Amino acid sequence: MIILDGKKVAEKSNLEIKNKVENLKAQAGRSPFLAAILVGDDKASETYVSMKEKTCHRLGLESKSFKLPESSSTEDVLGLIRELNKNANVDGILLQHPVPKQVDEMKCFNEIGLDKDVDGVNTQGYGNMAMGIEAFHSCTPFGIMRLLDAYKVDCTGKLAIVVGRSQILGKPMSAMLLNSNATVLTAHSKTKNLNELISIGDIIVAAVGKPKFIKANNLKKDSILIDAGYHPELNCGDVDMEGIEKIVSAYTPVPGGVGPMTINSLILNTVKSMEKRIDG
Ligand code: NAP
Repeated sequence: MIILDGKKVAEKSNLEIKNKVENLKAQAGRSPFLAAILVGDDKASETYVSMKEKTCHRLGLESKSFKLPESSSTEDVLGLIRELNKNANVDGILLQHPVPKQVDEMKCFNEIGLDKDVDGVNTQGYGNMAMGIEAFHSCTPFGIMRLLDAYKVDCTGKLAIVVGRSQILGKPMSAMLLNSNATVLTAHSKTKNLNELISIGDIIVAAVGKPKFIKANNLKKDSILIDAGYHPELNCGDVDMEGIEKIVSAYTPVPGGVGPMTINSLILNTVKSMEKRIDG
């Protein structure tokens, strides 16, 4: 049984990023710059943005958060995104999800220039990724694919069940697994007989947003479990891990699995963005 140690894989990649950033600084006279937009007072979002910023600074990148009030309109957020799109020193723009309900999140995601969409939330970028055209990949599923790759998990021919179909996680996850030759089934809140489906999957990705929703003892023997969920208040994911070691052949721990890979992928994309910018 293998623990898919996202913390370890992310740290190895972070060291490589740190070296790249030093080289970029010497070459271009500045560090890669990530602009994070935080709308409103969501405490969890503040924590996530602060974690991303801290990792940026630790690896030598510049990062600044732009805080907009809870009462902001879609136009307010679009205005800031347009300014950041125009700023030649900004390499990546992250709009932290979720935004207050009066803000049209999708419209804002789609305003982010494709060349700066390092969080991979733009609809056109998603389409490009799904079609195998170069694009920044949505960070959480990209981090998961990179983690599987680091442990040499071959998805070819495996039956993957992705539970969740959100724009940022479930849908791009399914597309990436499909592009890696898995046979993919995407489940959601209207799916019938979910437990039966889960019990035949070779790879299960839990992206439901409900603590301990999927029971480990319902998984197929020797399957691979990816728990993308995170519930800081309970320090658990979307899977009830009771007895997991005796069932699966590999799994991601929570914390220390998918989370560190998400942040690492965001930073990797930001560095790539600056590399492309200076290479013209
Ligand atoms: P989301 O937007 O709330 O989407 C949840 C998905 O789960 C929806 O597609 C929903 O289906 C589906 N769902 C809800 N109840 C279900 C049920 N009973 N059976 C089957 N499917 C059900 O959440 P998200 O943003 O994708 O995030 C999912 C989880 O990942 C959360 O725990 C979040 O904290 C975590 N996350 C972690 C990271 C990280 O870096 N580790 C990053 C992002 C998110 P419908 O579409 O039908 O409503």
